[in-house]
Amino acid sequence: MEFIPFNKPYMTGRELSYIAQAHANSHLSGDGNFTKKCNMWLEALTGAHKALLTHSCTAALETGALLADIQSGDEVIMPSYTFVSTANAFVLRGGVPVFVDIRPDTLNIDETLIEKAITSRTKAIVPVHYAGVACEMDVIMDIAKRHNLLVIEDAAQGIMSTYKGRPLGSIGHLGAYSFHETKNIIAGEGGALLVNDEHFAERAEIIREKGTNRSQLFRGQVDKYTWVDIGSSYLPGEITAAFLWAQMEVAEAITEKRLAIWKHYHEVLAPLETAGVLRRPIIPEDCRHNAHMYYILLQSLEKRNELIDRLQEQGVNTVFHYVPLHSSLAGMRYGRVCGTMINTISVSDCLLRLPLWVGMGEMHIDQTAGAIKRTICP
Ligand SMILES: *Cc1c(COP(=O)(O)O)cnc(C)c1O
Repeated sequence: MEFIPFNKPYMTGRELSYIAQAHANSHLSGDGNFTKKCNMWLEALTGAHKALLTHSCTAALETGALLADIQSGDEVIMPSYTFVSTANAFVLRGGVPVFVDIRPDTLNIDETLIEKAITSRTKAIVPVHYAGVACEMDVIMDIAKRHNLLVIEDAAQGIMSTYKGRPLGSIGHLGAYSFHETKNIIAGEGGALLVNDEHFAERAEIIREKGTNRSQLFRGQVDKYTWVDIGSSYLPGEITAAFLWAQMEVAEAITEKRLAIWKHYHEVLAPLETAGVLRRPIIPEDCRHNAHMYYILLQSLEKRNELIDRLQEQGVNTVFHYVPLHSSLAGMRYGRVCGTMINTISVSDCLLRLPLWVGMGEMHIDQTAGAIKRTICP
């Protein structure tokens, strides 16, 4: 029996040679050649007016909160079933996350509940594309337009996915990607901000460069650079960008490999869904996903936790997430709930993520599925 880890970062083989090039170029701070290549690749991929590498998706979301000009008491509508950064980026500006429940099928924000959560203080909606499967963006964009709200897509898990043919992250006014080691395309720690509404472009560059107009200096638009706005240091160094470039070059192939693993899981687990002992992911018709994640939903918290232990004994490492933000210490302090959290709580109790990494073979998938079957089918 082979031990199967939950995640294993995939290396393309080109990372070290690009890092050596960055080293030889003697440009190690941000916005060198590799960063430019990555930004241009993202712009070509998504059609974004501007793409800016950041040191994390968290940093991209923080830039989004600054661009949205979130003030103390401003409300931001988002799911509770998400990673902490979705909320934290806005709480840092004094914003109040308003949590709404998720849909039982995609586990994304339930777009039919958003309008009820809007008040005179609402500034933005932050849809999170869970597992790289799109939220119902047409409905969300329509609500935002009618109420004059900004949409900042947390597309941390969504690179290479589309909604009605449009890349995730490119639909809202702003979008954020993650290149963290646990995502599909990686840089260790890394991220990007997509500026789709061009009127945010200039200020986005300034915020990312410590509140200075340094980017304008490089373009020859000003003859000295200076402090012009609030900001922070959100850009990655060239070593990180060099690593990331090696991944972007083969992003299509990485996605294909992940999809093949995802599809194999989906096939071998189908009989267990038919038997009624688990539920598999549901991908809506108009969504093309990126196989960021393969998860199953068990019947109860007890059964989920029991399965984690039995799989561990059989050499299969699985994990669950998220503690719903509305029930977390900081979430209770800084946010508020709108409506019930029935689906959020049940998914948090019952969801289990299975190993999925490039390099996994069918035998690993079969070993995992076999161990699940032995445990949950009496
Ligand atoms: C991973 C993730 C983030 C954070 O990404 P970092 O690059 O680690 O900052 C934010 N939101 C979601 C939904 C994520 O999955």
